[in-house]
Amino acid sequence: MIILIVFVDQGSESDSKASRQDDVPMQKIPKNKSSKQSELTQSNPKCSYMRLAKEFVGSLGWNDALFDPSYDKCHCLKCYPADYPNVIEAGNAEYVVPRGWARVGLHVDSALIAQHDIWNEWIVTFHGTSLIAAESILAHRQFCLPGDKLIDGTILGIREGHIPNKKHIYTSPTIAYSSLPVYCPTYEHSSAKTNLTYDVQIVLQCRQRPDAFEIQRETVGAGKQRLCRFIPNNRVEYYTEIRASLIAYGLLVKLEECEHDSVSFSRYILFLFCRMYNNKLYK
Ligand SMILES: [Zn+2]
Repeated sequence: MIILIVFVDQGSESDSKASRQDDVPMQKIPKNKSSKQSELTQSNPKCSYMRLAKEFVGSLGWNDALFDPSYDKCHCLKCYPADYPNVIEAGNAEYVVPRGWARVGLHVDSALIAQHDIWNEWIVTFHGTSLIAAESILAHRQFCLPGDKLIDGTILGIREGHIPNKKHIYTSPTIAYSSLPVYCPTYEHSSAKTNLTYDVQIVLQCRQRPDAFEIQRETVGAGKQRLCRFIPNNRVEYYTEIRASLIAYGLLVKLEECEHDSVSFSRYILFLFCRMYNNKLYK
């Protein structure tokens, strides 16, 4: 495989001057007509991180029909080593590989795949969201816009920082942006496999129609703080009002062992030590 070193060059002429100095060289792999095989079906069923992600997703009680394990793919360091590319091309655009996230495959309508040739023609983007919004998107078989009623009866709102009264769906070519806490809440998962508790986030991995969105700078007030090593802040947010231009094919899951577990474990050891000491004192 030939690996090219290139500079990102997307966006309008007006912002390209400002962004070029932000750009860093990216590893890029050439567009591959057989990207479905290379990108979608490299999964190691024995990976403990993937199994943990599946345990969490199983605990949600979502309908089994929403999933398709043939699109499973783990990006933990064992399954996706450090020397693999950080940036991959899909549909003539680059996206940043979601390192550290396990992708639980989602069912994709075969008619949509055939009609739009999404594995070759559509780009890859990420959509950070809550569990209830993600389940609503998958259950309704379409992305939700502000004002839509979610499956728990609540109404999807417009996040602070986005244009009021404008109904858009927001995505990003980098999960560093989509997984920011403003888009992507953290949940807790107690694992029966490890007896540990984890902080969990979810992000939808999508194929997106390349001519059906606008690009803008971040809207989280990052200022000069760069949010992604590979995509400059002024091209990190995509928005569209076209629901049918987005198809989710993976539920990305990131699990981090809760710090309070180790804190409570230390406290427990301290408690045992104090009790032993007290027992000795009162003999
Ligand atoms: Zn893995």
